[in-house]
Order: sequence, then structure tokens, then C-alpha cells
Amino acid sequence: MSPPFSLGQMMSQPLLICDLLEYAAQHHEHGGIISKRLEGDIHHYSYKEALKRSKQLANALTQLGAKQGDRIGTLAWNGYRHFECYYGISGMGAICHTINPRLFSEQIEYIIQHAQDNILLVDACFIHLIEPIIEKLPSVKGIVVMIDEDHMPKTSLDNMYNYEALIAQQSTEFTWPRLDPQSAACLCYTSGTTGNPKGVLYSHESTVLHAFASRNPDALNISSDSVVMPVVPMYHVCAWGMPYIAPMAGATLVLPGSGMGGEDLYTLIDHANVDLMLGVPTVWLGLLEYLNKQNLKIPSVKTVGVGGAASPRALVEALDKQHNIYLLPIWGMTETSPLATLGAKHKAMDNMTDNERYKIQTSAGKPMFGIEMEIFDEQTNAPLPHDGISRGLLRVRGPWVIKQYYKSDNNDCLVKDSLGQDWFDTGDIATLDSHSYLRIVDRAKDVVKSGGEWISSIDLENAALGCDGVNEACVIGVKHEKWDERPLLFIVKNEKPLAKETVYQFLNEKVAKWWLPDDIIFVKELPHTATGKLQKRTLRDEYWEYLIK
Ligand code: AMP
Repeated sequence: MSPPFSLGQMMSQPLLICDLLEYAAQHHEHGGIISKRLEGDIHHYSYKEALKRSKQLANALTQLGAKQGDRIGTLAWNGYRHFECYYGISGMGAICHTINPRLFSEQIEYIIQHAQDNILLVDACFIHLIEPIIEKLPSVKGIVVMIDEDHMPKTSLDNMYNYEALIAQQSTEFTWPRLDPQSAACLCYTSGTTGNPKGVLYSHESTVLHAFASRNPDALNISSDSVVMPVVPMYHVCAWGMPYIAPMAGATLVLPGSGMGGEDLYTLIDHANVDLMLGVPTVWLGLLEYLNKQNLKIPSVKTVGVGGAASPRALVEALDKQHNIYLLPIWGMTETSPLATLGAKHKAMDNMTDNERYKIQTSAGKPMFGIEMEIFDEQTNAPLPHDGISRGLLRVRGPWVIKQYYKSDNNDCLVKDSLGQDWFDTGDIATLDSHSYLRIVDRAKDVVKSGGEWISSIDLENAALGCDGVNEACVIGVKHEKWDERPLLFIVKNEKPLAKETVYQFLNEKVAKWWLPDDIIFVKELPHTATGKLQKRTLRDEYWEYLIK
């Protein structure tokens, strides 16, 4: 019987992550991976070698009892072994759960429990994060330490394996299962405004589609000639997809390990002739400072992709004027895989004044094909004009945008517009202009983003409220030259005497050090809305530049 007339008659090969590496190994013998290792040296290998070792890892995990659908956690910097986890784990049909080592102990424990990880692959430098909580992680049956055998750390942990010893015994042959392309491939938790972190579960198909879109000329513009270095960590939204995009393009992938400081980055850029780098503004400020102090240049670098926070004009200008580098602005979220909008360089910019160009480069760019976005009025839920002035709730949708958090029993992260269409509500407040350039102007969600990582204002307020003498507490994010934003704590005291030092001492035991507010301001009262909610926007407007000298 012939198929219905309305169906196309083309093959439907599943889009699977393993095929990205198979492709690179087969067709791009010049591309490969350059990694700064925790052992101290710089390691080079081809995609062919990466493929063999990923298959050895898949065999090893199978031998340890891992099955399709299992969650296997990683706690690791950007390195070639972590890259092999991306392919070995997802390729065999398990889920690669990248854990952020900067979260504090209770959060790491929570997400491993929530994901029910049964094997952890851990860089030697992160073993100390697991030791104190292992008793509370009954799902974890084995821990694989990713380091050379002769650098294995001493530890009290049982069921430990050395990565190299483990994979050395395995065959380099492994037949990747032909999975349903909608199968889960990778899991990444994001810290919400309050409560526990939430998991975002990417599929094989969403990951491959995101890679297709992201490598385009009007996006990251990556080809087999490119040498790309994600300085954004592989535990934070899969290093913005770069470990998938680079093999798809046959590009050289440069992984900086734990070396995110200026000197380390410079050494690797110079060694590998990097031409595209990605990361949050804080990293580039550190690199620029080092280059200026040492009077060094990085002529191979043509583009620096900046996301996770707004691109400051001073950074755009310094990269342009001092290094002839184009700052490529990016907006995205863990929930959007993450790339959604980019401000790529285009010909018309040649005839623009610096000011006109910098205006585009300090925006968040425009959507890639596949991403729809709209801004909505907070009160009426109606779409707002794209005039560059009207500010509204930013909502997005597309094939690499979340529809439901991991293990959530509802899709309440989605909202309906007046036509009944579903959108993901980003929690960002934005404007769109007549050329579709997006600008993030505020956040509806109650968080502070410091150096690319989240601090929950509500959790910090709740911690402060526990301190004797505090009547009311309010945390806002204010501008910081290095970290982009830092928390500022406002306190309304009761009649008891209370010193700043006492509050700091109290908080020190309740939250991670990098969550501690940069200052505490005692006020008589705090601004509230008619419904009694803290009116943070008023405080943000007044104190935005408080920490800037
Ligand atoms: P994450 O899920 O940790 O990647 O954080 C995503 C959030 O970072 C967004 O919802 C924004 O609040 C913020 N963000 C990302 N890119 C930008 C940008 N270009 N401008 C301003 N804020 C940004």
C-alpha cells in the first residue's frame, strides 16, 4: 500500500549525539581536541581517538551496570575526559548529568539524590565535594576518578575506580544503540529563585538541532577551520553546546581545564591559535587585565561570544579598540539549551559609527531560526510593540526550549498567550526593537547573577531573617565591575542592637561564602507594593551603582 499522499517520502534518520563524533572522526582528521589537563600539561588528540575512548567508556559503564535511561553524573572541568563522558554516556543511551561544583554541599547532595545518579565521574580535584555526603547518596554505586593512575588522590571513598585503568581494559568497539531521537541525553540543573534547583532534560534531537542552528554564519559562524574555546564550563549548560557544535563542524575544540584566569587563558590561546572564545563577561575582564599588564596581544582571536549577562559597553570597546576583536553578544538560558539570540557581525556594520555598532553589541542580539520570542505586558498578557522602548515579560518557544522540568508533574513553566499558544516564561524583562534586537532590562525572577552563577535573593533573605534582631530583609543585585552583579542586603532592625559584623557572622554559617552580600544597609523601612510585596525595582533603581567607585 502506498503511503498517504500528504506525507513526504524522505528517510527519517534519528538525530543522535553519537553521530556528531562519528562524523568528525570519519571526515575531519585535522580537527580534534586540545586540553589543559589537571595533571599540568597540554593534551592533544584527534576526534578519531576521542571516539575510540568514548566507546571504551561506554563499554566500561556497561560493565559497571549502567543501562539506557540511567543518570550518570559528572563533576568536572572542561577537559577531554569530560568530553568523552558527553559521548560515552549519551551515546550508550544513558543520561549525562553535569553537576555544578560551585553549588554548595546541600544542593549537590539534593540534585544527585533527585536525579538518582548511579555512577559519578569526578575530576580528582572535586573528590572532596563527594566525601562528606556519600553516606546520603544511596543511589551512587561507583565513583570514577578522572585523572592519570599515578595522580589518584587518597580518599576514604569505597567503590572508586581510576578512569584510565577502567577504560584501558575495554574494547574500542561499541555499537551505539539507534535510540528514539526524543530520548533524554543530558541533564543540567539550574538554581531557581527559591527552593531546590530544577533539572532541564535535553534530548538527542534538541541537542543536535541546537548545534545545527548555533554553528551558522549568523550565529557562532563555526567551520572546520575554526579553533573554538568554551571558557564557559561544561557543567553549565553543556558549555553552551560547544562540545557538540565543534565535532559537527570538524572544528578544533580547546578545553581550558580549571584555568579560567588571565595567564592560563593567554597561554592556551597562544598555544592553540584560538579564534573564537565563549564565556561570561567576568572572564574577559580578567583576561584583558592580564593582557594589559603584560602588554600582550592575542592576534588569532577574532570573536569573543559573551552571554550569561549583558555585554558591558566598556568590554565591547576594549576588545574592539585594543585587540580588534568582535564581541558577539548572546542571550540564552539553561532552559533554552542555551543559545537563542546572537548579535552577529554583518556587512552594514562597516558603515556604522562606533556608537551605532556598540549599540548592537551591547544588546542581546536577535533570534536564530527555530526560536520564536515575544514580549508581553505584565498586566494584560498582550504582546507589546517592538519599538525598543516597551518593556515586557520575555517568552520564548522552539525545539530546544524546555516544556517541563525534570520529574515535575506539570508544565507550569509554560504560559498561554491569548491565542492559547504555549510559551516558556523566561523571568527576564526585555525590549525588542524594530530590527528584532533584544535587550534584557530587568528580571522578574528574584535572583542575583554573580560571575555567571545564581544567588537566590529569597534564600539569602530567609537566611538573614533567622538572625536575632532582624525584622525584615531584602536582597537586590547591584552592578559590580568584575562580577557583573553582587548582592546587597537591606535590613529593618527591631529594637535590639545589631551590628553588621553580627549579621555577617550569622550568614557565614548559613550560606556559601560567595553568596555573602557585598554590603549590608540598615534602613528604617523598605518600599512595598499595594499587595505588601517588596518593591525591589525602586531599590534597584536607587542603588544600582552603589558598589561602583
Ligand atoms: P542560566 O540559565 O544560568 O544560563 O542563566 C540565564 C539568565 O542569564 C537569563 O535568564 C538572563 O537573566 C541572564 N542572561 C543571559 N544572557 C544575558 C544577556 N545577554 N543579557 C542580560 N542577561 C542575560
